[in-house]
Amino acid sequence: MGTGNDRLGVTILEDISTLILQSHDLDETLRNIVTLVARRMGTEVCSIYLLDEDRETLRLCASIGLSPEAVGKVSLKIGEGLTGLAAEEGQVVAILEPKTHPRYRYFKETGEERYHSFLGIPLFDRKIPIGVLTIQTVAPRQFSADDISTLSTIAFQVSSIVINARLLDSIRKKEEEKSAFARELEKTRQSLIDKERPAAGQTNGALRGTVACPGLASGVAYVLDDNLGFPETLEDEPVEVASELQQLELTLEKTRIQTLFLEKRVTERLSQSDAAIFHTHLMFLEDRSFLEKLRREIHAGHSVAFALKKVVGEYLEAFERMEDPYLRERAADIKDIGRRLLANLGDTLHNPLQLKHPGILVAREILPSDMATLDHEHIRGIVTETGERNSHAVIMAKALGIPALVGVKAAVRSTPPETQVILDANSGCFYVNPAPHVTEEYRRLQADASRELHRLEEFRDLPAATRDGEKVILRANIGLISDVNIALRNGAEGVGLYRTEFPYMTRGSFPDRDDQYQLYRKVVENFPDYPVTIRTLDIGGDKGLPYFSPPREDNPFMGWRSVRVSLDNRDIFRTQIEAILMAGAHGPVKLLFPMISGMEEVHACREVIEEARANLRREGTPFASHVPTGIMIEVPSAVQMAEQLAREVDFFALGTNDLIQYMLAADRNNPLVNKYYDPLHPAVLHALAQVTDVARRQGIGLCLCGEMASDPMNFLVLYGLGMREFSMPAPFIPRIKAFLRDLDSAVAIKAARDVLTLSESAKIRAYLIEVLKEIEQLD
Ligand code: PEP
Ligand code: MG
Repeated sequence: MGTGNDRLGVTILEDISTLILQSHDLDETLRNIVTLVARRMGTEVCSIYLLDEDRETLRLCASIGLSPEAVGKVSLKIGEGLTGLAAEEGQVVAILEPKTHPRYRYFKETGEERYHSFLGIPLFDRKIPIGVLTIQTVAPRQFSADDISTLSTIAFQVSSIVINARLLDSIRKKEEEKSAFARELEKTRQSLIDKERPAAGQTNGALRGTVACPGLASGVAYVLDDNLGFPETLEDEPVEVASELQQLELTLEKTRIQTLFLEKRVTERLSQSDAAIFHTHLMFLEDRSFLEKLRREIHAGHSVAFALKKVVGEYLEAFERMEDPYLRERAADIKDIGRRLLANLGDTLHNPLQLKHPGILVAREILPSDMATLDHEHIRGIVTETGERNSHAVIMAKALGIPALVGVKAAVRSTPPETQVILDANSGCFYVNPAPHVTEEYRRLQADASRELHRLEEFRDLPAATRDGEKVILRANIGLISDVNIALRNGAEGVGLYRTEFPYMTRGSFPDRDDQYQLYRKVVENFPDYPVTIRTLDIGGDKGLPYFSPPREDNPFMGWRSVRVSLDNRDIFRTQIEAILMAGAHGPVKLLFPMISGMEEVHACREVIEEARANLRREGTPFASHVPTGIMIEVPSAVQMAEQLAREVDFFALGTNDLIQYMLAADRNNPLVNKYYDPLHPAVLHALAQVTDVARRQGIGLCLCGEMASDPMNFLVLYGLGMREFSMPAPFIPRIKAFLRDLDSAVAIKAARDVLTLSESAKIRAYLIEVLKEIEQLD
């Protein structure tokens, strides 16, 4: 049970919250507060003095009772008069007959000579005085302990309001400075671009990068410049301004009510000082410039979600730039407000931002979850500043057949949104605002490329076989349902690797068993004549889930990822396996476990399969009676253990993307060590030869599903080593089929045998170039 005074405190807190909701700037809030306090305390005068920036001058900022003309004018030094005394001492000053006090000072502008009692309470910002709240009465009044306690509560609230208002104000100023600076910067940049832009007839300078997925594309640039959303360039479906504005008001109102409720609850459960933080939130939700910015975005044709993401993002950035660490920490409040606003708006995670029309995505970095949510149909090409050629985002781009260039320095800075660009992901060039003759040249090249594509299409329905008739199986790597069509279009013989983590990334929470089953079933039913290899969750490394935050790790690729996460989350793991077994009732399915490093994990996975089977049996749910089980060979220890592991499983899937990085200690995403990440390194080739040999001798299946198989030079060696089943991004299948049809098995077998005798990859490469020339696969 609280005391009467506690209850009074709660009501005052509520009253002040209401005042914040009714006022739109600090002056108005303070004016309303002094009126409220005078009424509540039954005094003729209530005033608020605040310390100027010089930290020495107290200025009268709001008053009821003193002459209105004095507000903003009257100022006194710290220590001057009774008000100054309260600020100087940081103590409550309660005086009967103030005129008799030695520190009394008379300000004639205020007309305060009539008053016979004075109570001054200092205002603080983390122990530093920032002002004084005073009350005065005409009749002599001895202020009670309750009066002092109530006024102290109010003073505490006023302090938090003043601090917040100043914070918002300094952010506003910073924003203004920033936009003035940005305008200057843009002018300079533009003049540099103009200077560099060649006159018609000259060659245009191109930015250079590393080819991650070959191809040509042209169109407008979509610049993706942060992770909070895609402010300038991406948006939802066209919006109706009036209804979005209405939606915004509703969302704000809902959030304000929620904030009041939270404030009350925290006051009751914790303390008033814990609850005071919600004043910041309310002030923010009422802040004129915040609201104006939101409305402006909506008037510009954006949705509420977009406006919130953008504006909250800008504020966050401003907070994070604050010099004062305490203020910087307040960024958490903005995050909190932003999140609650978005949540009150509805579920935005299922409403991915979309590109308005086809274009080329230019970004500092693209995360796998971005790729999972973006509207693929409209992405013609991808350009990134970071250089992760083997990252999962790039893998997805490849699966979709989207030309991609990585490691293009200053791409974002050099590309104004919506400019015309050309992406040549064959020769590694990216042109911003190309000269007319460059555009013309690329138009011709694109026409040639689409003729070549046409030619390759002929191979779609032909069997994949060498010139001497040796058959090879080419399956597709898929991640999203949209990949299924691409796989079918390119003549894939089933799916050799279904990366199930990608559908997990596009959701707001873990999909339940039925969701997963429906998804897998859809894939399986699309390939009635071929198997679909479904790999269990492979998160961690560069693949995160928005709703499942892993611990911070120094070496995420060597950390808690993939099957390790699954084995530590048995329920999630078993649920996924059950869904896979259930999908197996609709067509041939294989079950694949990633990142196996030893025998114990195989046994543990087996146990979970048995649990899943028992569960389904008990429920009477139909599921496949036999599902071949395999493991990824992508950790060096698995290569060493291949002989023993092969006795335990039905097939191996060679994951060269990871195997190369682990064997050569070269991060697949780090451009600085790209040259060490070498698929043709002798150690890698020997490891591949060893695994192929084991699989052949023990009569188990082997499918290589790393990206390296989509390159003809690598393919030549892999085929020569004896591999006959591959899984790759589907758009590469026709090209590899065409390559195979000109290849003689004997040539490839000899080439593989020869390269295994070489000890440097440069020599291996030079040798293979000669072989390709001989079989006329190189210009
Ligand atoms: C691999 O590591 O080669 C592989 C196919 O798996 P992922 O690229 O999904 O890690
Ligand atoms: Mg892998």
